[in-house]
Amino acid sequence: MSGRGLTDMNDLISLCKRRAIIFPSSEIYGGINSCWDYGPLGAELKRNIKEAWWHRVVQQRDDVVGVDTSIIMHPAVWRASGHVENFTDPLVDCKACKQRFRADHLKADRCPECGGELTEARQFNLMFKTYLGPVEESAAIVYLRPETAQGIFVDFRTVRDAARLRVPFGIAQIGKSFRNEVTPGNFVFRTREFEQMELEFFVDHRTDMEWFEYWVNERYQWYLDLGVRPEKLRRRPHEKDELAHYAKGCVDVEYEFPFGFSEIEGIAHRGTFDLSQHIEHSGKDLSYFDDLTGERYVPICVESSAGVDRALLTFLVDAYENDEANERVVLHLHPRIAPVKVAVLPLSKKAELIEKAQALRAELREEWVTAYDDAGSIGRRYRRQDEVGTPFCVTVDFQSLEDQQVTVRDRDTMAQDRIPIGRVREYLRERLKGNGR
Ligand code: ATP
Repeated sequence: MSGRGLTDMNDLISLCKRRAIIFPSSEIYGGINSCWDYGPLGAELKRNIKEAWWHRVVQQRDDVVGVDTSIIMHPAVWRASGHVENFTDPLVDCKACKQRFRADHLKADRCPECGGELTEARQFNLMFKTYLGPVEESAAIVYLRPETAQGIFVDFRTVRDAARLRVPFGIAQIGKSFRNEVTPGNFVFRTREFEQMELEFFVDHRTDMEWFEYWVNERYQWYLDLGVRPEKLRRRPHEKDELAHYAKGCVDVEYEFPFGFSEIEGIAHRGTFDLSQHIEHSGKDLSYFDDLTGERYVPICVESSAGVDRALLTFLVDAYENDEANERVVLHLHPRIAPVKVAVLPLSKKAELIEKAQALRAELREEWVTAYDDAGSIGRRYRRQDEVGTPFCVTVDFQSLEDQQVTVRDRDTMAQDRIPIGRVREYLRERLKGNGR
């Protein structure tokens, strides 16, 4: 295979637009800056990523449970968490061209666009404000959550008691978050509305560092197991001066995008900060009582926080290949996350072929997301599936009417197997090895 990997983001952006995987939101009105819609294939891809995470982090474990908490929370939550006061980015304006930048993203003290003079940095709060109910007054101000984690902390006691969990245990959540980013960009890498997959894992002071290491490695491994090339992925421990005052460690999982190595997930040792803050601000007891040792304490939290959209961008960038030798673009997506697992293609529009192909598709769709395509030459149809990452194509041809056999083509090797039509399901089960979920 030649040249896997993307070098120019525009190639991916145009593929995503052409196949309606991801495209600008409100496009008929000219779009809106950095808001994106996921079309049919993008929605499947996103669901598969979230399912792969949930399956691994929640369903396959005895020590983690999931929740789905409200996006709008009591405003006191954000005072306790520190977001009202500290969730800010330093903003500078160019006095000449009026563009805005995040001061911590600039390499020099002049405007990177026009070289103009910059204003002093001002702290800009990233939380979106809105009003709850019909009155627009300050008492009714609420925020759209900038992370899902606080929903977990405030529900800590209720969930622990209901699920009868013993430390160490975790609470996980997937959901939308909102940040009024100063400089969104790089396609879906940084947007103002995005989804997060977060785990808050509660441990005691004897095992905290072990668990921290464990989750750094476990989360890194998840990307590798879903096919990301190891040479493009790294774990970057934060320097001392990057760490929050309460944190004992933080490691970012970074991927090498065409625009450089960038964070796709953070794993942080948050100490007892979050629960302690909520104990103080709510006046409620969120401590943990260990009835075996008789100890009562506030557990330490190890957090892993990943972006769904950033993970999705990582998988797309990493899977992309412009396979010039075969005159195709192909996404080598792991079958587990590929939007469509198998496409059924009748060689011609002859009624008997269509009937046979549709019967096969009906059987396969009981188990997998399938596609059906009878338009254009077979070579073009293969390429249409390759560029959206469909692992297998099954072709029903004239010979199939005689010998009841079909051809299964592999996306990556382009190798073709001729097998009895009655065996296709079993064959795919074997080849997808449980990855069709
Ligand atoms: P950055 O430094 O890139 O702004 P951060 O350190 O503020 O990110 P966290 O608060 O650690 O990010 O958020 C956890 C994860 O949520 C990130 O690793 C990323 O995957 C995702 N995420 C955060 N902000 C955005 C955003 N604006 N758009 C898309 N995903 C985001």
